[in-house]
Amino acid sequence: MAELSLITPIEYLKGVGPQKADVLKKELQVFTIGDLLTQYPFRYIDRTEFHKIRKLHPDMMAAQVLGRLVSLQLVGEKRTKRLVGSFKDETGSMELVWFQSIPWLQKSLKVGAAYIIYGKPSEFNGQLSITHPEMDLYNPQVKQAGNMSLQPVYSSTEKLKKFNLDTKGIQRLQQTALEAVFRSIAETIPQEIIAKHQLVSHQQALASIHFPSNQKELNQAIKRIKFEELFFIQLKLLNNKQLNTQKFRGQRFNKVGEKFNTFFNERLPFPLTGAQKRVIKEIRIDTNTGAQMNRLVQGDVGSGKTVVALMSMLLAVDNGFQACMMAPTEILATQHYQGLKQLVGDDLVSIKLLTGSTSTKERRLIHQALEEGTLDILIGTHALIEDKVKFKNLGFVVIDEQHRFGVEQRAKLWRKNVIPPHMLVMTATPIPRTLAMTMYGDLDISVIDELPAGRKPIKTVHFFESSRLRMFGFMREEIAKGRQVYLVYPLIKESEKLDLIYLEAGLENLQREFPLPQYKISIVHGKMPVKDKDFEMQRFVKHETQIMVATTVIEVGVNVPNASVMVIENSERFGLSQLHQLRGRVGRGAEQSFCILMSGNKLSKEGRLRLDTMVRTNDGFEIAEVDLQLRGPGDISGTQQSGVLDLKMANLATDQALLTECRNTVIAIFKEDPMLQSEKNYLLRSFLARKSDGIAWDKIS
Ligand code: ADP
Ligand code: MG
Repeated sequence: MAELSLITPIEYLKGVGPQKADVLKKELQVFTIGDLLTQYPFRYIDRTEFHKIRKLHPDMMAAQVLGRLVSLQLVGEKRTKRLVGSFKDETGSMELVWFQSIPWLQKSLKVGAAYIIYGKPSEFNGQLSITHPEMDLYNPQVKQAGNMSLQPVYSSTEKLKKFNLDTKGIQRLQQTALEAVFRSIAETIPQEIIAKHQLVSHQQALASIHFPSNQKELNQAIKRIKFEELFFIQLKLLNNKQLNTQKFRGQRFNKVGEKFNTFFNERLPFPLTGAQKRVIKEIRIDTNTGAQMNRLVQGDVGSGKTVVALMSMLLAVDNGFQACMMAPTEILATQHYQGLKQLVGDDLVSIKLLTGSTSTKERRLIHQALEEGTLDILIGTHALIEDKVKFKNLGFVVIDEQHRFGVEQRAKLWRKNVIPPHMLVMTATPIPRTLAMTMYGDLDISVIDELPAGRKPIKTVHFFESSRLRMFGFMREEIAKGRQVYLVYPLIKESEKLDLIYLEAGLENLQREFPLPQYKISIVHGKMPVKDKDFEMQRFVKHETQIMVATTVIEVGVNVPNASVMVIENSERFGLSQLHQLRGRVGRGAEQSFCILMSGNKLSKEGRLRLDTMVRTNDGFEIAEVDLQLRGPGDISGTQQSGVLDLKMANLATDQALLTECRNTVIAIFKEDPMLQSEKNYLLRSFLARKSDGIAWDKIS
């Protein structure tokens, strides 16, 4: 039989066969032996330490005890039926309790035998117990899995277990795999870097992550694997970044012309903040280098990203190009369109709006004007990327709230000109540094870290349900002062029906508290036809209504400066970044604004922390960091398409230092050897060659 290697299909591994291979593929996406070996243990049982029963405590996360099973009894009936074992060591006794698999346990557990048990101790009525402990017959003679010092625990599924692939089964498979391929595991990182960062070899890391002989060895394996994951992501990203500037010629905007200047000198209704000026300057420099710009603008809600986008687009128009701006929702695109027209006026440039509900006739006119070059700026939703939309000379693309667009959609805009347009991506809210480095590591990043002058920080309070009347009273006061109020309900897919019931009940209550004709209420939710949504929005914008009841559709972008109160119902159910986004809908005018977080009386620890964070700070960058710590990157929108989720070991919330180390390492490598031509970098060169698939999806941001 030919020698096996990491890329050998999993079915060729001894002990696997077609059926097991099939379930491994389906359940764990394990196709090769290498895939199997990157199914790392999710924890280790420390077999070096045995706890004495007398020392067990319900606060312990888990404990391992060596003792004897002295009796086994069936107690309770029907739903309370359970199997209870009495377990003893020389210091005391405790109970072991099982609710499931009782017949099987009765058959296989040996009363009188010594066991190593493992599980979480708990206490009930002074009686110490472990529910569903892991049980291993104790055998001091045999070198068995249970005798290893750190025993790996793998995640498994019901299906896998049917094929004997529980944690023990997977452990055996890992051992077979390692023995079969160990000698063929090649190094992936150049020796110089391995030495400099004191890494263990790839081979060593894979062996020790599954079967560490001690904690130190395990730590070294973990470091090496994390380093490898982060290092290669950065290598890819920075390579793409380098290719962008080298390969793709860019449109050159070499003048600041009449439209830009007229707008800046005569129409801009406020002075730009220092941060806005800085970012506009960065964009001007970028677009005059002859290379294509790919820049991300990060800024907190309300930091004034739109004006930056507008002035960049004017720059493009002054240089003879067209520009477009894509937003994720119709409401937002419409607002951008209206806002921009208002800012820039009707005569300076021609601007049009294209969305799903643009009429056929209007659409035809827009298509024609685009191709003839009489239309300067087009605002819209993803309707912009349809093939029918052809520009005469597209030079600048703005993507607002970009995480809602997929890579392919962005790529289509990129291809709307022979020489690709400059790309400016704007995030909705700040993202943490580690995420930015990983999700947008191939873009240049600008930060707007300053709010327009004169903004009063929004005051945020948290009310329990019991203070609802106080909240209504406060709403009345603010409305009496001429302000408007948002009231937002969660509408979450999984519990949509129930949410709608709450929404309706809440609405009825609200209508009683705020009756016609004195008070008028707008209602907007995702299920409404666009036309009705628009109508309701407009009523609120025109101040025909004082209260806007909404589900989270208003999360993105809506701008009504006179609205100064944001009430968020069931706020404990929202994520931090969502709460921050919602709060950003107020505080846009000159008045003091407020955010009231309503919640039920019972809060989880995490829910509590989220609300406390909101009350404590208005700083979006700080909130983003807390969010990352709480949720991990997987749940933060935008990560799905960014490769962040390919991380198996590294953690962007906790491995910031290592990530920075990797990024700097890669930067230094490219600086010394941009084409990776030197002998010592051949591993990196071949990694990138393997990764490029012809279509430059990941070059496109
Ligand atoms: P975001 O960054 O959240 O997209 P916007 O661009 O919508 O923020 O700006 C929020 C509000 O602040 C808008 O009403 C805008 O006109 C206003 N604004 C932007 N820049 C300034 C500034 N330099 N001074 C005063 N107001 C500004
Ligand atoms: Mg915006």
